Amino acid sequence: MVNTDTAARRALPSVDRLLGSPAVAALLAAWGRSRVTTILRLALEAERERLAQPDAGAYDETRFLQRCAAMLERGSAPSLKPVFNLTGTVLHTNLGRAVMPESAAKAVYAAMTRPVNLEFDLDGGARGERDSHVERWLRELTGGEKAVAVNNNAAAVYLVLNTLGLKREVLVSRGELIEIGGAFRIPDIMSRAGVKLVEVGTTNRTHLKDFAEAITPRTAAIMKVHTSNYVVQGFTATVPESELAKLAHEHNLPFLVDLGSGSLINLEDYGIPHERTPRETLADGADVVTFSGDKLLGGPQAGLIVGKKDLMARIAKNPMKRSLRLDKMTLTALDAVLRLYLHPEKLRGELPALRLLTRERDEIAAQAARVQPAMAAALGEQWTVQIADCKSQIGSGALPVDSMPSCGLAITPAGKKGNLNKLAAALRALPVPVIGHIRDGALVLDLRCLDHEDEFVSQLKNLKT
Ligand SMILES: *Cc1c(COP(=O)(O)O)cnc(C)c1O
Repeated sequence: MVNTDTAARRALPSVDRLLGSPAVAALLAAWGRSRVTTILRLALEAERERLAQPDAGAYDETRFLQRCAAMLERGSAPSLKPVFNLTGTVLHTNLGRAVMPESAAKAVYAAMTRPVNLEFDLDGGARGERDSHVERWLRELTGGEKAVAVNNNAAAVYLVLNTLGLKREVLVSRGELIEIGGAFRIPDIMSRAGVKLVEVGTTNRTHLKDFAEAITPRTAAIMKVHTSNYVVQGFTATVPESELAKLAHEHNLPFLVDLGSGSLINLEDYGIPHERTPRETLADGADVVTFSGDKLLGGPQAGLIVGKKDLMARIAKNPMKRSLRLDKMTLTALDAVLRLYLHPEKLRGELPALRLLTRERDEIAAQAARVQPAMAAALGEQWTVQIADCKSQIGSGALPVDSMPSCGLAITPAGKKGNLNKLAAALRALPVPVIGHIRDGALVLDLRCLDHEDEFVSQLKNLKT
């Protein structure tokens, strides 16, 4: 080992000496002794390493303490924070998917700061069921006989398969063996759930007889998976759900459907292409249906399972339910969001996800015209800020090929200089980071999801390009 213990490094002060120095008093007053001690240790460590490099400049206490102050500042800022989602993808998984209504936020605040009847039956005064708070709405909204709520839809699929298919076989069409972002693969979930996957048909075509021929005494269920984030186009064939249900029932097997997004309403009523609902799927003969809480439903992250009473009772009793169950904050938010659906006429005004998905292009264009001058002024002569038509996406795998006409700002370099990646980074460095996307030589900010317009405009003065 090389001896790097140079004189420069020996000259570094001790933590105790620094804690006693007048220059550190302000830091101590602001951050407290334990936090400052931790940061001084870390900074000294880094300084020691720096001094071990050849040609390292000497220790400078003023600069060293400035670095410590910056570390204290940075280290205490929240890491998870609000951003402006101007990506054009409304239900953006990386940006937290659905924005939730004020009513849900208020209800969650109360549930966080006060005791709640989470598992307490107020009528009988005895132990109650955690899922009962959302079950009645889910039954009403889907026609399912019983409902179970878990952490997310991946957990819902896992719990259903593990309960109904353990050590047996589940038939799935080859065209539906999907991978969703973040490495959620149906075949992997199946094997972790202890289920043997039997692939049926081919990637582009699967027929009823393929399923019929694959049924053996080891078969536990037939499953259909919504092909969320892609479409199989051209020479294709899939078996309608009603026929798969009939086949399954002829063999006394349950028919399971993973819907993914699972909208609770007819989206066509709102000018969005139709996405199959849990109600339609159950009406077509599905026995158990799974879907997400934070995709088209517009609620918190959750996985919802609805279906036939006997199968659902087994799913609810699976010991793994305990590890996958919802906490009181999510249940409260879900309850608040589901109750909005009881009044569909008001839904568009009250459910942010639906409001954003249905914003008219002209309304967004008017907003673009309002904010364009402020953006142009903040960016200066180096950049051209134009109002441009763009296309938004629903996101989260829903309706991947349909896009909605929208409007936004397209920012391009005015001259030769101007690095779009640096501009994108500067927008991300704002107090409320602005996230757009770079396309065809422009940084595009799709304004479909721009709420808090005043804040957006007023923080532009902090932009450092
Ligand atoms: C999104 C999706 C999932 C995963 O749902 P999460 O709520 O993200 O866990 C599972 N299956 C399908 C078909 C999906 O679209």
